[in-house]
Amino acid sequence: MTNKNTNYPLKIGIVGGGQLGKMLSQAAKKMGFTVVVTDPTLDSPAGQVSDRQLIGGYKDENTTRELALLSDVVTIEAEFVNDRVLQKIANRGKTVHPAPATIAIIKDKLRQKIFLKKNKIPTAKFEEVKSEKDIEKAVERYGLPLLLKAREDAYDGKGNYLINTRTDIFKGLGKLKGRSLYVERFVPFRKELAVMIAKSTKGESVSYPVVETIHVDNVCDTVLVPAKISAKALKNAQLIAEKTVGKLKGAGMFGIEMFLTKGDKVLVNEIAPRVHNSGHYTIEACVTGQFEQHIRAVTGLPLGDTSMIVKAAVMKNILGTRLGPGFPDGIEKALKIPGVSLHIYGKKESRPGRKMGHITVVGDSIDVCLRKAEKARRLLKI
Ligand code: AMP
Repeated sequence: MTNKNTNYPLKIGIVGGGQLGKMLSQAAKKMGFTVVVTDPTLDSPAGQVSDRQLIGGYKDENTTRELALLSDVVTIEAEFVNDRVLQKIANRGKTVHPAPATIAIIKDKLRQKIFLKKNKIPTAKFEEVKSEKDIEKAVERYGLPLLLKAREDAYDGKGNYLINTRTDIFKGLGKLKGRSLYVERFVPFRKELAVMIAKSTKGESVSYPVVETIHVDNVCDTVLVPAKISAKALKNAQLIAEKTVGKLKGAGMFGIEMFLTKGDKVLVNEIAPRVHNSGHYTIEACVTGQFEQHIRAVTGLPLGDTSMIVKAAVMKNILGTRLGPGFPDGIEKALKIPGVSLHIYGKKESRPGRKMGHITVVGDSIDVCLRKAEKARRLLKI
């Protein structure tokens, strides 16, 4: 049902109830929308702040269909969803963003690479892997090291296996047994960068600043804004990210993760058809945060100003370090540090490596923000 006075959709359905769904829901609730989310876990992070949660897996057909029945607009917090069902829902006239066809390209990392190559967007050289022979051919063609990657359900480096020697080929195939694979040339990058871009239902787009991302054990650890790179690198990253998003159908936020290599060359590593960890800093540092921006974009509202309202921002993820409750000890001490903004996602249990929350610090210099963020992180035990 839509609001007759404004024609704006009132009910937003989000597939996925993790931290991204939670922050999307909070932004939507702030703007007066009703939100229904889906998640297999009762009382999920997003479920805690939404009007309703349907219990069911991200790919579950019945749950996705029920969500669509309850929503005016359907969107996602992750790409590991049932794009076929979303396509059928869209074919029946329901608004789905981003376009299910876009999700289908992105959720399969090999299809994503083929899409980038077809559109002449620079990316690491890659080959499909059907057998050991394909990897051996790639070793001959590109040399070592190579990254063997699972095509689907792979994120935060899960599903990636680094092949340094020929004996690693066998080990990698064993580790990723049963999954569809491809192999990618290892990029000796100088830095990792990301750009968040919002696209409206009318095709207009706005970009956030280029950020520097630092990964530890393949997981995003720290985001520094603005990226300390040359003007040429900034321009390359911005242009490549805009070109990439320009080729994708559907509205919403898109995250483009990139490698910066020698000579300020930029290669696209990965596309996220959604809000992204590298954009969390925008909540405190920009006029319009990425979560509000996504809600604006998918509901056909005007896109917001992406400018920074501070000179610098640092975001640090809080990953679990032990098995135990999902709420940290040390919160009083961490919040004594001026300028520290703490986000705890509300996951019931902490596990080593699980994303439990994040810290954002804004200020005048990246160095000062980084010191504060690191200190706050050290004080939190989770
Ligand atoms: P992914 O989940 O595939 O984006 O990989 C997670 C992290 O692994 C990236 O952020 C990089 O730090 C690293 N990585 C992925 N692909 C490559 C590559 N082709 N060359 C070098 N490092 C990579």
